[in-house]
Amino acid sequence: MNKTILIIEDEEEILYTLRDFLEIEGYQVLTALNGFEAIQLLEKSVMPNLILLDMKMPIMNGWEFAAAFLAKYDHQCPIVITTAAGDAAQRAKDINANDWISKPFDLDTLLEKIKQNEL
Ligand SMILES: [Mg+2]
Repeated sequence: MNKTILIIEDEEEILYTLRDFLEIEGYQVLTALNGFEAIQLLEKSVMPNLILLDMKMPIMNGWEFAAAFLAKYDHQCPIVITTAAGDAAQRAKDINANDWISKPFDLDTLLEKIKQNEL
């Protein structure tokens, strides 16, 4: 069975580029435009093998999503954050994420990061 990745990202161009790329790589991809959408999606879908999480988003940002996810599901699924911040490592630590990748990133680096962390 194909592995499932949930991408949470408010910039649609990035979101759909990543989705298309990962589908070509054989993943099943779920998408959400903010943390709130993602929480709702998780209530009616299988637990993904990895969550790719943007930090700055409207409605429910990456910090809020991570807190809500961990409170409800604990570490059932690894979270990798995508952020342009210079302090990406610290941000990942702050929200208890498994790993991080700095924006902008190339798709091969992303794929490598996913493979290192996915269940
Ligand atoms: Mg954003």
